[in-house]
Amino acid sequence: MSTWNSGINDRQLKEDICEIGRRLYNKGFAAANDGNISIRVGDDAVLCSPTMICKGFMKPEDICAVDMNGDQIAGKRKRTSEVLLHLEIMRNRPDVKSVVHCHPPHATAFAIANEPIPQCILPEVEVFMGEVPIAPYETPGDQKFAETVTPFLKATNTVILKNHGTVSFGKSVEDAYWKTEILDAYCRMLLLAKQMGSVEYLNEQKSRELLDLKKKWGFDDPRFHNEDCDLCGNSAFREGYKENIPVQRAFPKAPDYPGIMQEACGTACETPAGGASEDLVQMITNQVLAALGK
Ligand SMILES: [Zn+2]
Repeated sequence: MSTWNSGINDRQLKEDICEIGRRLYNKGFAAANDGNISIRVGDDAVLCSPTMICKGFMKPEDICAVDMNGDQIAGKRKRTSEVLLHLEIMRNRPDVKSVVHCHPPHATAFAIANEPIPQCILPEVEVFMGEVPIAPYETPGDQKFAETVTPFLKATNTVILKNHGTVSFGKSVEDAYWKTEILDAYCRMLLLAKQMGSVEYLNEQKSRELLDLKKKWGFDDPRFHNEDCDLCGNSAFREGYKENIPVQRAFPKAPDYPGIMQEACGTACETPAGGASEDLVQMITNQVLAALGK
């Protein structure tokens, strides 16, 4: 399967979009005409699903193409308005070749409750996903909506869109779709477990073992780069959480396993200069001084 510079007439990639559309629809991730899928096929060319079509029944002839500004360059049907979200992600992440956006019910329940996805609970989720941020709400469709995800793009392949749905991305359309499937399955398990009573976190040692595994397998995680990052504490995206801070209300508070940097990372890890921790100290200092009336 080629996903780069194969051009807007690549029949196989159009069929791949239709196949992922069928999976989205059959899994209940995209009701009626919801959801959209894209694959980058050149420096200035992206294949995408059209608007007003059920993603479960698309044919290769239905797939359209846009340039990196979102202007339609091929296809009989009108391109989805949400393609701007896809392009924003591709512009910020040149490694991303495909984007999948939909409304999977269990993950979207967290988006509606503004409840952060708890970490340190399920091995697969720790290794393949890590922290999944919640981007602030904006009316879907335009560039302002597309930019709600920008602050979170550096350190994740999946973003929850507040009061809306999810977007996941990767090196192929299948890779992008899998992230959504893993996330929604996890959210479903969490909601089922909560109905039974309690949700238990992994202990500190087992959580660290999973992060070691993740590192060994070559997956990145924001917790490798963030010195004051809690192991399970949903804090890696603090910088992006200026407008909307998700609050843990439905699930038990994450355990406090600090100092992940030393054990999980050793000295080989690069730490980005300056950044969130200094900003936070300054913000707290300002608030304390204000409270003291100085
Ligand atoms: Zn949507």
